[in-house]
Amino acid sequence: MSTKLMRGALLMGKRDIQVHDLFYPEVKPGAVVLQVTAVGICGTDLHAYRNTVSGRSAPDGHEYVGTVVELGEGVSSLRLGQRVVCDPFLCSSCGTCAYCLRGLTFHCQNRVGHIDVGGFGNYVSVREKGCFPLPDEVDDSLGSLVEPLAVATHAVRMLKVRPGMSGVVIGGGTIGLCALAAAQYAGAKDVYVVARYPAQQKLALTLGAAAIISPDEIPASGPFRETYPFGVDFAIEAVGGSAPTLEKACQLVRPAGAIGVLGAFDPGYRGFELLPALLKEVSVHMSNCYGARDGRHDFEQAIEQLTRRGDKLRLLVTHRFDLEKITEAFRLADDKASGSIKVLITMPEHGPTRALTFFQRINFSDPGIPEGLVRIEGLHDAEIWGRWSDGKRVIMQFRDPMPEKFTLQVAGRSFGPNASKRFTATVSGVNRDFSLPAEIDGLVILQFENPTRECTLVLQIPEPASPLTLGMNGDARMLGLGLVSIIISG
Ligand SMILES: [Zn+2]
Ligand SMILES: [Zn+2]
Repeated sequence: MSTKLMRGALLMGKRDIQVHDLFYPEVKPGAVVLQVTAVGICGTDLHAYRNTVSGRSAPDGHEYVGTVVELGEGVSSLRLGQRVVCDPFLCSSCGTCAYCLRGLTFHCQNRVGHIDVGGFGNYVSVREKGCFPLPDEVDDSLGSLVEPLAVATHAVRMLKVRPGMSGVVIGGGTIGLCALAAAQYAGAKDVYVVARYPAQQKLALTLGAAAIISPDEIPASGPFRETYPFGVDFAIEAVGGSAPTLEKACQLVRPAGAIGVLGAFDPGYRGFELLPALLKEVSVHMSNCYGARDGRHDFEQAIEQLTRRGDKLRLLVTHRFDLEKITEAFRLADDKASGSIKVLITMPEHGPTRALTFFQRINFSDPGIPEGLVRIEGLHDAEIWGRWSDGKRVIMQFRDPMPEKFTLQVAGRSFGPNASKRFTATVSGVNRDFSLPAEIDGLVILQFENPTRECTLVLQIPEPASPLTLGMNGDARMLGLGLVSIIISG
């Protein structure tokens, strides 16, 4: 059990991301702990930020660079101090199913544990098998671009872009501009970019786009049609949402050309007019993630591109924020008119903190914890007892007086058809009601005022629970609580 803390950002609800004290990760066999140095905010993170209904119990963030600071048992390919990036799907893949054997680890049918994300925290534990070491030429800013560039590279390889081909990329965000770069790297001669915002247009030209096409100009006239009257060899869609971008792609691609789809479309979106695509006989490739093709991983190819073209590609990072300012960073990244392309979170250079009075994690759903008294070691010889007296209540008695203000984190879920969804935490006679989600692990953070420095904390189900709620082996599962993280900061 970890006795160290770190800082990490949690999505608490819609457009609400906050930095909290969280547990420093455990290093498991076959895994390493990385000290995160930089992490990009991805479109996927923004999507969750705009739409999530329940909070997360662990940080998101998959576009991270980290330095190996701990090696788990059996790790042989990585060493301490090495800088790496990580393919979260490769990390958690089984390695033996039909998809893994074909390099399509994104589609693994026997995923092992959770997917290794967590870059919005100071430290993250990841499995060795998904880590890719970075050469010195690829610094932390560039390293944060490996993942989005691998996404774009995957599509370019799927489309079989060859030297001399012509193309168009629809979308001037990170993925669109990475698609431009990846297509150029594959040898494409003329790649046009459809971009709306001035910052995107300017950067696309700096990266060597043949020309910019305004989204309102399509089907496009002028120099584009003069050079390519029948359209270009390939079109890559990198916008998604619900705009008619696939139709525009079809208007810009030549007969028998190919369209790559990278944008995340809104659920239920069906707005693609099929007949023009049919008449043109275009092939459409759906490209969602990355993996290995012909024995070579998209991450390796992305790292190679960043090694050779880092000077240009680093311009994609337009803004940087310290982790503590992540709220501001998300607000800016969420506003496309802000001129932001890739917004990067950088981490303060400090080790795990030990500044708090008590912190400990009690896993009440762990069958190894007996009913009755639970003694938990904390810092400064603090002790916490937990007791569930009648199956509906956990009482924690702290040996030392509690601070006048503190934070309690309760993580877990309330599962089962009759499990209570509502709980109450009580300190100093003040009740705080909270609820946990049923589907995924949730995290509830409660701030307490404790003027009398009371040292008893009670968690309970406020209403009489139904018999079924209390039925599971007589252990703490009846509470529907998983982890209770007691992170108390004065
Ligand atoms: Zn991403
Ligand atoms: Zn597999």
